[in-house]
Amino acid sequence: MLLAILGLFCATCTASESLVKNGKCNSRIAILASEKEAFLMDRAAQAIADTVNAWSGVKIPIEKVERLPEEPAIILSTLDSLSPELKDNPSIYKAEFMDDQGFAIVPILNKVFIVSRTSRGVFNGAVYLRDFKIDGSKVNLILDAKPVYRTPWMKGRAVYLLNIWGHEPLYTVSDWKVILDSLAWYGFETVYFWTSGHFPSKKFPQTYKWADHHFDSTAESKIASVQDLAQIIEYGHQIGLRMYLGGGLGAWTGTGNLTSLKPETMKTGSGIAAMSLCPSHPESRKAIVEYYKEMYDALPKADGLYIELADEFGECVCEICSKPVDAFGSRQFGQSQITLVQEIAHTIWKDHPHAHFAFTNGYDEHKNDPAFYEAIKQMDNSKFEWMEARGSWEFPAAGGKLMPAPYFSKKQMKWKIWEIMPLSEQVEIANRLSKEGWFGMIADFSPGFSSGSLYGGVYGGSQSKLPVAIPFPVNKLPFALTYFVTREVMWDPTLTVEQVKERIQRRFFGAEAPAHLATDLWDLREILLVCSQSLKTSAEHAKLLESIEEHIREAENNASPKTLESLSIMKEAVDMIRKYTEPE
Ligand SMILES: [Zn+2]
Repeated sequence: MLLAILGLFCATCTASESLVKNGKCNSRIAILASEKEAFLMDRAAQAIADTVNAWSGVKIPIEKVERLPEEPAIILSTLDSLSPELKDNPSIYKAEFMDDQGFAIVPILNKVFIVSRTSRGVFNGAVYLRDFKIDGSKVNLILDAKPVYRTPWMKGRAVYLLNIWGHEPLYTVSDWKVILDSLAWYGFETVYFWTSGHFPSKKFPQTYKWADHHFDSTAESKIASVQDLAQIIEYGHQIGLRMYLGGGLGAWTGTGNLTSLKPETMKTGSGIAAMSLCPSHPESRKAIVEYYKEMYDALPKADGLYIELADEFGECVCEICSKPVDAFGSRQFGQSQITLVQEIAHTIWKDHPHAHFAFTNGYDEHKNDPAFYEAIKQMDNSKFEWMEARGSWEFPAAGGKLMPAPYFSKKQMKWKIWEIMPLSEQVEIANRLSKEGWFGMIADFSPGFSSGSLYGGVYGGSQSKLPVAIPFPVNKLPFALTYFVTREVMWDPTLTVEQVKERIQRRFFGAEAPAHLATDLWDLREILLVCSQSLKTSAEHAKLLESIEEHIREAENNASPKTLESLSIMKEAVDMIRKYTEPE
């Protein structure tokens, strides 16, 4: 009761705690957690301790406790693990009303609590504290203890994770663990992990380690066993990510080869249509359903299945697929895709009732296909979610009238390759998603195809002088800034560009740093993006780089450890640009 009362008056508590005082450790991290939560709670504690260590050289002790220590401490706890009197503290129980990944950071007496309904929420809180609330000099690090309550506005925060382009198949289980860690760090909750082609199907061995069309390939897969794939899923779960298996609806890495390319089972149409399966042909349908059932049976701990509809290969215009189904342009093609999707889900649910499903939509092939979107509207079981994949904002409703995408599904998300887009566009799109009530946004992680970086990220092979870094360097530019912005706008999608820059300033630089460094970091990322594609530096960019370097030199004189860390990321980016690009 005493703590509960004092908690009410925490305005009188100190607004900051000393973590390192005169070069000596002045705090500790205490974890209250069940055995099941221990792994992620340790990670949460480590995120804070590693930062303190990197900035001051001081090792802050981490201990698992059953009772709170007497000394000043940062306490990490789920709501369930708290003592009854803390559970009754209104500053603490605010977290009960939040999303299970939301968190509260609350000062009470000589402690700062990070609490959430789940260990993943506590982890998110620890990352926030690490990013925004520690500052000071090497010998005196201060924790800003003012209360924070943060819950993600976007409930759908997925990553479309490709491992089938360029050098991506060379990533091992341990490489993917590094990437998954970073995705949890950046506030995502679901990963669509491409599985077809890596999965050693017994029923369809021809799909295994398949090289498609000169681009996507799993031929050299380093995650080509059920055991490897199961380990990736299990690791994702340990760090609070929901893991979906991924593949195509009869195209991409192996699934286009499910019927061994038998001509009558492939699409009829122009261009590359004949390289993917007709969704109406009974043999194609049977093979696709059986393949995904076999995959799910082999990896039953997966949380769901992500399937790309393969509309990039164009519409099938065979006799069945081209049959009109209404007066507004809808054809059987879309209906066959939908019933196939339903057959897959129905079959998998027989043995795996927990399975969720994600499918793509938004393609031109369905822009005059109201029957397709009407069918999606009828699939409002919450286990279905949709990824808009082609920049559409509206779909045709019954009668052909255009309606905003969230009208058709409350779980409609938008996918974009944020990595190769200017940050300001990402912010503007998030603003619009929130205005229109979309479920969330999906990031693309595809280092061998489109990372906007100089670490071998450009697909094509002609730029072989670039270094290929495996795993992808998630602590450097551009990733560290792109995904930081993604997290901030997924959690707070109404932020303006200026507000995002303010957050960048607080995340990457200490209080002593000049305010223009956020803009410099932002500009540097945008330059990197452009020149990773052209391998040229324009005169304008060269001039900007010089001024950024000048700012880095100025800031270094008086920089706090927090600022120094980011200046070093910036210097490396400048060096990379200088080394791997030529003047235009
Ligand atoms: Zn067809």
